[in-house]
Amino acid sequence: MNLFQIAGNQDLTSYLSSMENCPNCSTMLENHFVYCPGCGQTTDLPRFKIRHILDEFFQAIFSVDRGILFLIRNLATQPGVTARAYVLEKKRKKYVNPFSFLLLVLGLNLSVNVLIKPYTARFSTKKDTIQHVTPTVPKDVLPYIERRRQATFFIEENINIIGLAAIPLFAFIFWLCFRRSDINYAEHLVAQVFFSSFFSLFTILLTLLLGLALKHYLPFLNRTLLLFQLLYLSIAYFQFLHYQKPVDYVKTSAATLLALISWVALSGSVVFLYIRFGR
Ligand SMILES: [Zn+2]
Repeated sequence: MNLFQIAGNQDLTSYLSSMENCPNCSTMLENHFVYCPGCGQTTDLPRFKIRHILDEFFQAIFSVDRGILFLIRNLATQPGVTARAYVLEKKRKKYVNPFSFLLLVLGLNLSVNVLIKPYTARFSTKKDTIQHVTPTVPKDVLPYIERRRQATFFIEENINIIGLAAIPLFAFIFWLCFRRSDINYAEHLVAQVFFSSFFSLFTILLTLLLGLALKHYLPFLNRTLLLFQLLYLSIAYFQFLHYQKPVDYVKTSAATLLALISWVALSGSVVFLYIRFGR
């Protein structure tokens, strides 16, 4: 009903005084509103109580139909279907926001890297002299070896940022390869945030497993991860692009391979330039 009808039928001031403002955005709320039409906040919000906080916390993690574990399980079993539901079929409430999930995983990743040091574990400490590590190499090569060592430390210390830089690159490669599918770059980017987050989580688990229980295999970490990424993304994009014929795995595997090669080439050249010209 609009205000003119009300004015005609009943006392306007008494009607208006029965209305409240939304505490979040100040939109006028009618009594029967369950959600604010301005910002979507619930109109009946209780005060914070420890019980609610715990409820929210456990819901966020364990809820069987929308929590973080639900998202992880879905990204493990049907990554492309999940990304497609969120990105293209607009089931936005069903899944945890992929960017929040990414931040959470990056935080975990950082802690695990500090704990395990998968890349620099073979160097004793950062402060060790290079002469001690490599006693027989000619003097003019030493600066390069030292910078390579520095680069390895740099990678380990900034692994989160380096991993983040891969997301827009991967999204670009897949957008380029599947331009005709009518999925735009931003949509590819959000899908890639899902896939990269899950890949980071897998990296964390594998690093923990190798670092704590199977130290002997730690040098194979990178190759295992690359292989996993190749398989995972090939399957994920097969589902995301809604392919049906098994032969289309060739397309998604080729695109994944191209993305991985571009990434290795790009990050490799940055490290090379650092070793060659860095100070
Ligand atoms: Zn509001």
